[in-house]
Amino acid sequence: MSTYHPLSEEQAIAYSRQIPQLFQPGAELTSQEIGDGNLNLVFRISEAATGKSIILKQALPYAKVVGESWPLTLDRARIESEALIIEEALNPDLVPHVYAYDAELALTVMEDLSDHVIMRRGLIEGNQYPLFAEHIGRFLATTLFYTSDLGKNQQEKKLQQGRFINPELCKITEDLIFDDPYRDAETNNIEAPIRDAAEQLWADTELHFEVAILRNKFLTAAQALLHGDLHTGSIFIKPDSTKVIDPEFAYYGPMGFDIGAVLANLLLNFAAQEGWSKDEVSRSAYRAYLTQTVKDVWTHFEENFRALWNEHGVDRVFATPGYQDYFLTNLLRDTVGFTGAKIVRRVVGLAHVADIDKIEDAAARERAQRMALTIGTASIRANRQISSIDELIAIATRAA
Ligand code: ADP
Ligand code: MG
Ligand code: MG
Ligand code: MG
Repeated sequence: MSTYHPLSEEQAIAYSRQIPQLFQPGAELTSQEIGDGNLNLVFRISEAATGKSIILKQALPYAKVVGESWPLTLDRARIESEALIIEEALNPDLVPHVYAYDAELALTVMEDLSDHVIMRRGLIEGNQYPLFAEHIGRFLATTLFYTSDLGKNQQEKKLQQGRFINPELCKITEDLIFDDPYRDAETNNIEAPIRDAAEQLWADTELHFEVAILRNKFLTAAQALLHGDLHTGSIFIKPDSTKVIDPEFAYYGPMGFDIGAVLANLLLNFAAQEGWSKDEVSRSAYRAYLTQTVKDVWTHFEENFRALWNEHGVDRVFATPGYQDYFLTNLLRDTVGFTGAKIVRRVVGLAHVADIDKIEDAAARERAQRMALTIGTASIRANRQISSIDELIAIATRAA
């Protein structure tokens, strides 16, 4: 099995058999394709007798979105496996272990996390995860610090950057997040009842100015190796464990983009409580949990990041008194701006979130969409002014 071809379930079993030190020869294996089939195949291979199981994730050479196909590089499988390995070295407890990567087949063999749930689903079900903020705050701090010029030798950083240029996947983000939502683009996906809000968005040139600032940062600010797609569908969770998956969009970009992705998805669920909470009491309780989590994610990130900088900073000039505070103020501002951009695209852009789309009651869904747009646009507008995470929480609370 050498040249590229998408594996069948049977071929995935045959492939798994020849990976050294995983399954016994002659083991009875079953195979199931569990991915959503849009971008990648995901096979779960398991051995009933021992309970052992693994995941094979294979990239497909195209992306199939709204019935339309476009070619998409298989090299993203390399980027994903290399990013997972870098992330795992920094935080072994927060990333699935990579057993093997096969360049020909664009395939990564990794730890099976089926005992976790996808966080988006967990939040829709109304669960709380008390360790999440601490885990993701540490994940963000270590990956962003150690891959940046603050924590990595600048020559090494540039060499690593060369392995993560990722133009095709970056273009998806550039178009779907930083362009299409702000004009009447064909790729947009706007429900009829909120057409007026979308039209307002398209006419708002002051907002477009702020989006241009964020877009330019996404295009040019090679601060650190980002995950690049850190929404709650890329996080596996259970009460005592958090695992980050799916870094195929990884590239060197602005740190606030990853932090903002996490906060945006918490706030999208905040808006979606229009449709999920049983009553006002449980709605405000769950929203309080979500805004507290927004605050805790930033706080844990900041504490970890400052500690790493103080103890492991590699650059003398960046140790100049006052510079760390200046850097973190700007990073919070970027984070809030990217939070807003990530929210807006999930309401009017191509790819929505289940938190809102799966609300059956049309009136509640519309309220959630409008609330998300209010939070998103206000966050974008605040991106150059904000000075505390509490101001982002106030934006959400005011919209509710
Ligand atoms: P895509 O890039 O196509 O979005 P993901 O990496 O997000 O692929 O995986 C898609 C789905 O496959 C996940 O939502 C999850 O259900 C399943 N999956 C992916 N990786 C694992 C894993 N390591 N363990 C268990 N299930 C996984
Ligand atoms: Mg998917
Ligand atoms: Mg995914
Ligand atoms: Mg993906």
